[in-house]
Amino acid sequence: MMNIEEKYVVDVLLSEEEIQKRVSEVALQISKDFKDKEVLLVSVLNGSFVFSADLIRKMDMKCKIDFISLSSYLGTHSQGKVKILSEFKEDIIGKDIIIIEDILDTGTTLDFLKREIAFKKPKSITTCVLLDKKCARKTEVDVEYSCFEIGNDFVVGYGIDYNGFFRGLPYIGILKESTQ
Ligand code: 5GP
Ligand code: MG
Repeated sequence: MMNIEEKYVVDVLLSEEEIQKRVSEVALQISKDFKDKEVLLVSVLNGSFVFSADLIRKMDMKCKIDFISLSSYLGTHSQGKVKILSEFKEDIIGKDIIIIEDILDTGTTLDFLKREIAFKKPKSITTCVLLDKKCARKTEVDVEYSCFEIGNDFVVGYGIDYNGFFRGLPYIGILKESTQ
């Protein structure tokens, strides 16, 4: 049987250097905007784990981080219905929440998560996404920090997977079937 990582090629869309530079810029901006606030980062697993790890290390501020597991994607297609696969471990009430998400696509996931968090009475909700597929939006959702705007291609790498594979790539690329 063919190995899944041999069956596909990944065309580089954003290099490791580009990603690191932009993530540093955004981390610095967030640190300035949230100086002296009581911030709780909410990282959306699994896709945001690499982005969150880089972002928090490049931030110059005090904050806590919690992880939430959501699922709406199966293979390369959104199922359209979001599910929470875990619960919050940290208190949300009265905190400045910054959601860290890998990709904003149709907007369904983020819209759902923002509503769920709002029920828990935080002081504020801010969103930071790595990739924004603006052209794929179906639900309007406000995003305060976005690292890159990309087209409507299926991407992998830098924590983002295809059926669990490709998360370890240091760059982000477009997944294509290999012609070999
Ligand atoms: P939305 O609910 O905005 O349509 O979908 C957002 C979620 O779908 C993202 O958090 C991400 O996990 C997943 N997603 C969207 N586009 C891609 C993609 O190109 N590759 C992968 N692996 N996941 C994606
Ligand atoms: Mg995600």
